Amino acid sequence: MYCSKCGAQIPDNSASCQQCGTVFGGAQPANWSAPQQPWLPVTPPGDGAATVSLICGIIGFFFAGLILGIVSIVQGAKAKRLGYTGGKATAGIVLGIIDLAVWAILIIIIIAAAVLSVSAYSYF
Ligand SMILES: [Zn+2]
Repeated sequence: MYCSKCGAQIPDNSASCQQCGTVFGGAQPANWSAPQQPWLPVTPPGDGAATVSLICGIIGFFFAGLILGIVSIVQGAKAKRLGYTGGKATAGIVLGIIDLAVWAILIIIIIAAAVLSVSAYSYF
């Protein structure tokens, strides 16, 4: 390393300069760098909520769509609020709306069929 004051070449990690006597109080060695953590996965903010939104949106198409559809929309909106910019949150919200629409129509058809069959029997 080189002395920051006089520029003399001195042994690495020296506490002071042998040439000018400058003390490097608490200074890091010249080749010091912040510890890196490459093993940590890079997860964007709101990724968990976006994943929950997408999964609930897909499952909700087949099962309990009114409940899971609402969960999808809420979790997707939460992911976007947390700063999530990927497509998963949008896909989850769209699937949630589709789930609600499909299941609402399905329930209306079932109720309508039940009402019609009751009124049909009442004629006899
Ligand atoms: Zn020096």
